[in-house]
Amino acid sequence: MALTAQQLDDISHARGDRRETRRPTVPALEEVLFQPFNVLDHGFVRVVDYMGDDAAVVQAARVSYGRGTKKVSEDRGLIRYLMRHHHTTPFEMAEIKFHVKLPIFVARQWIRHRMASINEYSARYSILDKEFYIPEEDKLAAQSTSNRQGRGEILVGEEAHKVLDILRGDAERTYEHYAWMLNENDDGTVPDTQRQGLARELARMNLTLNTYTQWYWKADLHNLMHFLRLRADRHAQHEIRVYAEAMMKILELWVPLTYEAFLEYRLDAINLSRSGLAVVKRMIGGEKVTQTASGLSVREWNELMSSLGLPSA
Ligand SMILES: Cc1cc2nc3c(=O)[nH]c(=O)nc-3n(C[C@H](O)[C@H](O)[C@H](O)COP(=O)(O)OP(=O)(O)OC[C@H]3O[C@@H](n4cnc5c(N)ncnc54)[C@H](O)[C@@H]3O)c2cc1C
Repeated sequence: MALTAQQLDDISHARGDRRETRRPTVPALEEVLFQPFNVLDHGFVRVVDYMGDDAAVVQAARVSYGRGTKKVSEDRGLIRYLMRHHHTTPFEMAEIKFHVKLPIFVARQWIRHRMASINEYSARYSILDKEFYIPEEDKLAAQSTSNRQGRGEILVGEEAHKVLDILRGDAERTYEHYAWMLNENDDGTVPDTQRQGLARELARMNLTLNTYTQWYWKADLHNLMHFLRLRADRHAQHEIRVYAEAMMKILELWVPLTYEAFLEYRLDAINLSRSGLAVVKRMIGGEKVTQTASGLSVREWNELMSSLGLPSA
């Protein structure tokens, strides 16, 4: 379970609380504020707070005194222009703060995005919940033969069952050892009064990487999109991509004009290298270009053909 009854109750109370403000708010985002978007088997992402909206981007770009909004069509045009020309600083004027619950191995990829402020649940201070990520069967795949950082065919039959048994068994066993070493229950009671128990900061070290952790993660809109560009990409590892996909839904609710421009000029767009562009020009000119005559490596050629929806051979 991603959230306990108490946690859901806290969220419900927070959502019931209303304040008047002169600051701009976004009704569609207010609608889902604090609510968890469930991800994986026990994870979630939820918006805790935000500052600014599409108009804040426009306002900063125009350095205006009022809200900056002229007509929606003009704002849309300006946001698309900014995105297209990598004029990024106006997007830094809006910010968003998430609460995320995620497996530790996903957190290790996520934390590489340095342009964010993070505060993680302390396993020195508190006892980690007994919650592990166990992939669904159709997510258990063999190593890709063409991509060293990817997955290939789905595992089937006996091997898939054995893998799931190992994942569950190892996580359960190491958690049992963690609990034994701590010698402390969630409510502070001590199971074995004859033992001292190991410090939390040490007992945690044998936990498996699929154990869930949690953090608050705050980023500005520019850096959020940089994160999403890399992690909502179809090549990103499934387990981080599903978080990015939940955040894409939130991005759409929060800043619909920026979201649209982001899809247009970043996520669903491609960069062409100088040689790649030359290949495209030759093809448009009617030439039948081959990989060997393209000046591209086999890998680059395959990537270009795949982006253009053409066969690589
Ligand atoms: C497909 C893929 C495979 C990856 N494989 C690996 C891997 O094998 N090993 C590995 O270690 N990492 C790997 N990474 C992580 C990757 O190298 C980046 O650390 C991660 O994507 C964060 O990107 P970033 O540095 O642009 O983001 P952020 O840290 O958020 O930084 C945003 C931008 O700020 C600037 N910036 C931030 N810090 C500095 C700095 N110190 N100096 C100069 N400019 C800075 C840069 O312009 C940067 O793009 C992989 C990422 C992807 C998407």
